[in-house]
Amino acid sequence: MVQKMESIWFDGRLVPWDEANVHVLTHSLHYGLGVFEGIRSYRLKDGGSSVFRLKEHVERLFQSAHIVQMEIPFNEDEIVDAIVETLKANKMPEGYIRPLAFVGAGAMGVHPGTNPIQTIIATWPWGAYLGEEALENGIRVRTSSFNRHHVNVMMTKGKVCGNYVNSVLAKREAVADGYDEGLMLDTAGYVSEATGENIFIVRKGVIKTTPLTSILEGITRASLMELAEDLGYKVVEQQFSRDEVYTADEAFFCGTAAELTPIRELDRRRIGKGDFKVAKHLQAEFFKVVGGENPKYEHWLHRYEV
Ligand code: PMP
Repeated sequence: MVQKMESIWFDGRLVPWDEANVHVLTHSLHYGLGVFEGIRSYRLKDGGSSVFRLKEHVERLFQSAHIVQMEIPFNEDEIVDAIVETLKANKMPEGYIRPLAFVGAGAMGVHPGTNPIQTIIATWPWGAYLGEEALENGIRVRTSSFNRHHVNVMMTKGKVCGNYVNSVLAKREAVADGYDEGLMLDTAGYVSEATGENIFIVRKGVIKTTPLTSILEGITRASLMELAEDLGYKVVEQQFSRDEVYTADEAFFCGTAAELTPIRELDRRRIGKGDFKVAKHLQAEFFKVVGGENPKYEHWLHRYEV
């Protein structure tokens, strides 16, 4: 359950949590056209707070809107400021941030015409998405029976509301079958991503991640690629199949919510020795970065005071 906070930013102003409501004929509710982000803010080692890669997340929100031809009636700087304003209003030195732009009520049918574009920002506390235990010991994954979207069916570079029905189906299937997460293949059968995470594997010392083709271009993915290269690892973007995951030395998921979560098992096949050597190294370095302990990445932190 999402913990109730004091305020939600709604179309330019903070409103009490319980008053942030919409009409049942809100267009997005019927047809799924909306764009959103998932962002985290972290408490820093020096006692301060920062939103991790805030600018990049807001940029992606506007890119998602551009892809689906929605005109958000605010600019990027205004959304950045509104996010910080919401965190402060809710007295949150750390937590999860959910901006969402959606098509309001007006015309019905799949041509929304001049319906208003509405924008909200909600924040709430959210611990480890797949659980603390998952960060430590890894998770059990099944290959989903649902493919990730074909690139000409849904716009996978956009974080678009309707795209996530595919994720909900895959996640439900995985959990119902006793797994923690579903690994989704693209329509050609190659590994794509998980329901809300990108994937990396490690084989013979090389770190591999899927190319951008069918995936959401994750900000954690980009951060880990840069971090891993700086730490001296070779990182490649290359298509791979599920059996390459079976025989990998390590595999892990990453995302804003999931952070860096090792994969222990895929389709009942143990992955590597299960020591997560590279994954744990990167995870530790990633947590140092988001916690403000690595000055090299200070430019990824958007500091604020509650
Ligand atoms: N893929 C999908 C489908 C996602 O929903 C997410 C979460 N936004 C990611 C990957 C990871 O992206 P990020 O690291 O930017 O959170």
